[in-house]
Amino acid sequence: MGGIASDKKLEERARRMALRRDLGNRAPAAAKSTRGCGGAYLVAHACFACRKSFKVAPRPARELRCPCCSAALYEMGRAFKAPPSRNLAQWKKVQALYAAGFRFFSYRGNDGPPLPSQYSQVAAFVRDYPEHPLRIAPARQGRPLSPRPAPARAGM
Ligand SMILES: [Zn+2]
Repeated sequence: MGGIASDKKLEERARRMALRRDLGNRAPAAAKSTRGCGGAYLVAHACFACRKSFKVAPRPARELRCPCCSAALYEMGRAFKAPPSRNLAQWKKVQALYAAGFRFFSYRGNDGPPLPSQYSQVAAFVRDYPEHPLRIAPARQGRPLSPRPAPARAGM
């Protein structure tokens, strides 16, 4: 009888040690993680209606919607730095660059001229640097980007 009791004690001690070890191993990894579910990288997506940026995992199969106003979210790229939402001029510039096919990724070296700082410079910039390394998407022709919730739109 006594033997069984002490075995149980040993088992219990081993279980507690294992638990402690698990906790110790898990905590730092979780705190450092910059990834979302499933190990996907998060990419800045902009709502041009709210002038807000959201970090979400890109889902090519599905159009993402703004959690605030449910307008379409646009994938801006990992290096996108959202201007303050009150800065209409900067958001206008960012939207114009997006519409021209620019995405905000960091690229190797500095072989491309820096993006324009003012909306008024965008048209000339797009004309002068059609092969800019950050211009990775085709320019949108015709329909401008809608800043309002729009019915289903094909593609991003
Ligand atoms: Zn929104």
